[in-house]
Amino acid sequence: MPLRTVQQYKASLQDGRAVYFGGERVADVTKHPVIGIAVNHACLDYSLADDPSHRDLAVFNDPATGETYSRFFRIPLNSEDLLLRSRLIAETTRQGKTLVTLIKEIGTDCLFALHMIADHMDKHLGTGYLGKVQDFYRHCRDNDLAMSVAQTDVKGDRSLGPAGQEHPDYYVRIVEERADGIVVRGAKVHTSVTPNSNELFVIPTRQLSAEDRAYAVAFAIPTNTPGVRMICSSYDDSVPNAFDRPITSEHRMMETLTIFDDVFVPNERVFLKGEWQYAGPLARAFVEFHRFTAISYKLPLVDLLCGSAHLIAELNGIDRAGHVRDKLSWLISYAETLQAMTRIAAIECSMEAPGIAVPSTKLVNIAKLHFASNYHQALSHVQDLTGGLLVTAPGLADLDNADTGADIEHYLGGKKGVSARDRLRVINLISDLTTASFGGYQAVLAIHAEGSIEAEKITILREYDSAGAKSFARWAAGIAP
Ligand SMILES: Cc1cc2nc3c(=O)[nH]c(=O)nc-3n(C[C@H](O)[C@H](O)[C@H](O)COP(=O)(O)OP(=O)(O)OC[C@H]3O[C@@H](n4cnc5c(N)ncnc54)[C@H](O)[C@@H]3O)c2cc1C
Repeated sequence: MPLRTVQQYKASLQDGRAVYFGGERVADVTKHPVIGIAVNHACLDYSLADDPSHRDLAVFNDPATGETYSRFFRIPLNSEDLLLRSRLIAETTRQGKTLVTLIKEIGTDCLFALHMIADHMDKHLGTGYLGKVQDFYRHCRDNDLAMSVAQTDVKGDRSLGPAGQEHPDYYVRIVEERADGIVVRGAKVHTSVTPNSNELFVIPTRQLSAEDRAYAVAFAIPTNTPGVRMICSSYDDSVPNAFDRPITSEHRMMETLTIFDDVFVPNERVFLKGEWQYAGPLARAFVEFHRFTAISYKLPLVDLLCGSAHLIAELNGIDRAGHVRDKLSWLISYAETLQAMTRIAAIECSMEAPGIAVPSTKLVNIAKLHFASNYHQALSHVQDLTGGLLVTAPGLADLDNADTGADIEHYLGGKKGVSARDRLRVINLISDLTTASFGGYQAVLAIHAEGSIEAEKITILREYDSAGAKSFARWAAGIAP
């Protein structure tokens, strides 16, 4: 039965995986007070597929097998598939109060990219990768697996390639080739959802040269494979209540420093082994799908910034002021431009071998750059409209205290009829979203996740038809072509 239940998913994580949090090995990630929040957040993916009001979007029926699968595994064949994928990513993230679940999104982005690059390698080098990728895709789809992708290496000196580094382990590499597989060593960083995934993909992070051959490696392994150690980020180890932190009390994603301590990978799970010319194309193919995922999961975030700004302006009685309408109209344009760009990137897709619809790379990157480079301006407007209570408000315990609760109710109301409790709920939502640890997390996520802003600019310059534009300018200026 391809669709798993929440219980089956949780049980699959109780497998002896080596996860460390706050200096201690975690015995069971599903029962850990902080990682458990990330596990429950990821469960949204499975509960949505089981929910009659979301089921049509969350699953697809494959006439070829007669089975029903999670729609995330649908290989996009046209813009309609991409639009539905984008809608599903946005809806799951909306249920997660702006936090993406990622456990199927990122892995399928990687699977789509692996299909394309494996096909290309097989045709040009005579390798036999595509069949292995297709078998592995079916394994993930048919077992409804949660997946993480470790692409970003720790990288050491950013100006040097892997072979030029102070020591050889700043990028993951092959240290031994055996008849039945390879042994890999190194570390990846910022790997999202690893503590609660079933499969872990590893792919290169950059273009490589011939001397980097050992670093040209892509594979997938079960997350509990011996030698894999996951050291969780400590960015927020609090367990807040739902009043003070309406988002983070229920929704969280966990990143790890992911160590590969001489890990054995069997041949059937190896998708790149030394073909250094294909490291860059694989890295880019993954990132292009993943940036489409990114702009899709940013949509609920910009919507909530917009909605909460409108709401707090109303509760504070400032919604008719000129400067407020100016900021609200800026926020609407910011959000709606991203919405439109995401749709058009899906509509303007191209078909790539072996039959996969790829969203417009140029438009995806412009959309991502639009989102990321304006994100801090959006935060500034929302924080401006909300006021300083974002960081100075009393908490739930003060509201519930017999001595102080009445003071807070009496003094912290908004415009007529708006109770202090309701106003604080909205302020706490905006605080969680824009200031507290989650706000900081989202701000860094905006700048760096799915590649830094500079990487987006490089791609836009590469994808733009500058020759056509220059020839138009030459013609308009009246100079020879
Ligand atoms: C919350 C979060 C989740 C993430 N999840 C994942 C995940 O699941 N899987 C995964 O693989 N990655 C993940 N990432 C990693 C993300 O893709 C990287 O953060 C991003 O690519 C930037 O890399 P970096 O953090 O090493 O920063 P750096 O690469 O060090 O970037 C810092 C600055 O250095 C500049 N720079 C870097 N190299 C050069 C150079 N050669 N020349 C000039 N300038 C340079 C950059 O442009 C940037 O301005 C995640 C990141 C975040 C923040």
